[in-house]
Amino acid sequence: MYADRIKNLPPYLFAGIDKAKQEARARGVDVIDLSVGDPDLPTPDHIVQALKRAVDDSSNHQYPSYEGKLAFRKAVADWYKKTFDVDLDPEDEVLTLIGSKEGIAHAPLAFINPGDLALVPDPAYPVYRTATAFAGGEPVVMPLLKENGFLPDLDAIPAEIARRAKIMFLNYPNNPIGATASRKFFEELVDFARDNGIIIMHDNPYSEIYFDGNRSSSLLEVDGAKDVAVEFHSLSKTYNMTGWRIGSVVGDADVIAGIGKIKSNIDSGTFGAVQDAGIVALNSPREVVDEIRQVYQQRIDILYRALRDIGLELERPRATLYLWAWVGGSSIDYAAELLERTGIVATPGVGFGEHGEGYIRFSITRETKRVEEAARRLEKMKTRRIRATETGGN
Ligand SMILES: *Cc1c(COP(=O)(O)O)cnc(C)c1O
Repeated sequence: MYADRIKNLPPYLFAGIDKAKQEARARGVDVIDLSVGDPDLPTPDHIVQALKRAVDDSSNHQYPSYEGKLAFRKAVADWYKKTFDVDLDPEDEVLTLIGSKEGIAHAPLAFINPGDLALVPDPAYPVYRTATAFAGGEPVVMPLLKENGFLPDLDAIPAEIARRAKIMFLNYPNNPIGATASRKFFEELVDFARDNGIIIMHDNPYSEIYFDGNRSSSLLEVDGAKDVAVEFHSLSKTYNMTGWRIGSVVGDADVIAGIGKIKSNIDSGTFGAVQDAGIVALNSPREVVDEIRQVYQQRIDILYRALRDIGLELERPRATLYLWAWVGGSSIDYAAELLERTGIVATPGVGFGEHGEGYIRFSITRETKRVEEAARRLEKMKTRRIRATETGGN
């Protein structure tokens, strides 16, 4: 019945954990779910109020424009200017998306012919790989390894592969790792893309969720980036708007036009009222995001300390909503044991790709007092490490 593109989807690795989670809940266990990347904080009220007003505007009741309202695209361009000092032409360098996932999933259809190659990081957000496969392309994995600062090793990409690849997906600040990319890496990346005729698709939904004052950057800050790259941005994580489905892709005008062509044949744009509220969000005073960031900073501090205390190896995340801890061995087994002993649900790293094996991702998208409770319960995992060491196990 199903097409190969469905049949060939990777197996759903979390089915076992999901089932164990439900069973634990049914047994009355007070489950703390730190597996989701969906902010628990509500959308700031001034944005909600803006939507309520915009719903009454009957001009929003008709089909929206495919590329998005010019006023929204202008708000995105202004936001890039004030946030990154990047200049964008709202007319042809900005496209409105129904959440960035929608744009990422559609983008390969504009550039990939059957058999074409796309370079994808591993571990990573799974959409890069499935979207490539849906377009008939072949994903080529770039491992993100600790010894390389969790950046892809561009020199390790064989010349033949680099020559054949049409697009490369990247994501910094990175989900699931929490790593960021240096300016120097971004510069090398732009050179690599230019030399090899590769379109860079940089996914950047976490640029504002950074810690310890390490503000993160846009790939488009690099000279020449706009000739080889687009960047996906989203209101989802910056303003706690995951349910609203609004984002944008900005950069290289030819690439934007290609994605726009695909979209105009598939969807009919983002609800105008959501775009009006999105304009209000993007024009928020900076205190709005500062406040959200402070809440996350506090949670990161609590959970980072707790994970270090039980002997797990991890780096302090520079950004994002995640802590990426090395547990060794099977990440699925560790997640199962974690749930069994503590009632905490976390995501096995192998779910993000083979190079995520041995890691567990903890998300901080629960109330701060629940994160504190999780930190207390993690004590119970301490004995696991000791036992493993004593028996010389893995
Ligand atoms: C959350 C997330 C997105 C996208 O979100 P939208 O809600 O679709 O804008 C994209 N990429 C990564 C890596 C994410 O974690």
